[in-house]
Amino acid sequence: DITADYSTMLEMLRAAVTCAPQVTAIRYFDGELTFAEVDAASDALAVGLQDNGFRRGDRLGIYVQNNPAFVIALVAAWKAGGAAVAINPMNKARELTYLLADSGATALLCLDELHASVARDVVSSGATQVSTVITCSALDWQTRGDQRIFGRVTRERHEGTLDLLELIDDNRGREPRAEPPRPGDVAVLTYTSGTTGQPKGAMNTHGTMAFNAQTYRDWMGLTPSDSVLGIAPLFHITGLIGHVGVALLLPCPLVLAHRFHAGAILDAVREHRPTFTIGAITAFISLSTVEGATAEDFSSLRLIYSGGAPIPPAVNEQFLAKTGHYIHNAYGLTETNSPTHLVPPHSRAPVDPTSGALSIGVPVFNTAVRILDDDGVEVPAGHLGEIAISGPQVVPGYWNRPEATEASLPGGELRTGDVGFMDAEGWFYIVDRKKDMINASAYKVWPREVEDVLYGHPAVLEAAVVGVPDEYRGETVKAFVVLKPGSWTTVDELSGYCRNGMAAYKYPREIELVSELPKTTTGKILRRQLRTTNP
Ligand code: ATP
Repeated sequence: DITADYSTMLEMLRAAVTCAPQVTAIRYFDGELTFAEVDAASDALAVGLQDNGFRRGDRLGIYVQNNPAFVIALVAAWKAGGAAVAINPMNKARELTYLLADSGATALLCLDELHASVARDVVSSGATQVSTVITCSALDWQTRGDQRIFGRVTRERHEGTLDLLELIDDNRGREPRAEPPRPGDVAVLTYTSGTTGQPKGAMNTHGTMAFNAQTYRDWMGLTPSDSVLGIAPLFHITGLIGHVGVALLLPCPLVLAHRFHAGAILDAVREHRPTFTIGAITAFISLSTVEGATAEDFSSLRLIYSGGAPIPPAVNEQFLAKTGHYIHNAYGLTETNSPTHLVPPHSRAPVDPTSGALSIGVPVFNTAVRILDDDGVEVPAGHLGEIAISGPQVVPGYWNRPEATEASLPGGELRTGDVGFMDAEGWFYIVDRKKDMINASAYKVWPREVEDVLYGHPAVLEAAVVGVPDEYRGETVKAFVVLKPGSWTTVDELSGYCRNGMAAYKYPREIELVSELPKTTTGKILRRQLRTTNP
């Protein structure tokens, strides 16, 4: 039944294994795994975890890139009665220690090439509760060895660590002993990046995750004949649900390519012909500007969504001209298991004439959205305020952080920190993040609006706008700009272009041409870093 609803993530896999065991679940370079193979491998890993002391409610840290091990480990943690902690593989020892200690993880899966020694040091430091370290390799699944699933690579063994493939092989055919998860059980802890203090673990439960996987399916009309292109990192909520959750639910193949590398992703698109994807807008900019990319490359995709950051309207137009695809806006947060607002698949979102913002769409099923003033009082349509959201996809809170939970989720309603409004027809717009507002001579400047204008310039590939200290104005507007390869312009010309396109108090008085912008692994431009690196 392709419209069935599930209350836990594991129920989805069970249904997939029952009705489509031989369907490909994951394509990874030239390797692939069926749903039956994911099921068998995750059973064996769950048993391996339990044999090493993993119990109901325990946490397994997953510290790998986008490869099949991520999916197998995620499901194994659930089958063993516990939860996963999704860890950004770019993290270094200090960040890893914090996340493992905060989450109380007792087991860790890491990537041999990148992390085995880091993990060993972190574990031996005694600062965490991790007692089991399992390693895997990004190359494990790239070739088809004797067995169809696992192409083995010989590599150095690290003392005190377990090898993922060996652990699986040793426990093949055994079944884990654990009660099935309940909808309210934590399935994954996803950490905020910590712009305002230490990172906090959002408790994504089986119920909140399952609801939003179903939102993707039902909103976008996805069916088992679709296949998902994994552009976003799997540790991020967009990848976790928009890629893994959707593939388990439909069920359908998920195309993975280790990490975001535009050339590798384009190769995967050419080879596997996926039909659906969601990722960061910067990823789509990179994909469409890969040398040799043609509209034909994108022709298998029937629906593209971008979430996690604003879509500059000019970028959407350029992408459409180049690939024939309109990028649909998706808005959501880690704390909402991603989308709470989506542009309907057959619609084009309106652009607000005043702020120039592209609409984020309309609220998804069963979701209540209020716009609040600074006193927390709801304002009418057309008025700016903070977006507050309640619904079945909103997490119940942060792991071990009752005060932060109360501050961000009073009464279960999420205060998003985003300023926006709803127009008379019910379309929603994000003006910007509350904390990114620039106060220039007491005028409010929203960086997104200035960036949108810059993206309209034919030579601009990427732009980021921040407020920098200014003796006279308090703050002044500064833009960092990356030019398109082969394009040329001057700071003066760009400055003139901006001055023509916006009110005098908004245009960037300082423009710096840079070769690249700092980004998160999810492809979001880090304005915060630009502010701090500024003299
Ligand atoms: P942290 O909260 O840890 O600083 P983050 O805010 O980037 O990191 P996420 O949960 O990944 O964490 O991102 C949610 C935020 O991303 C939203 O609050 C909003 O500011 C922004 N965002 C998401 N989707 C959109 C969109 N379609 N348009 C504009 N902004 C968006």
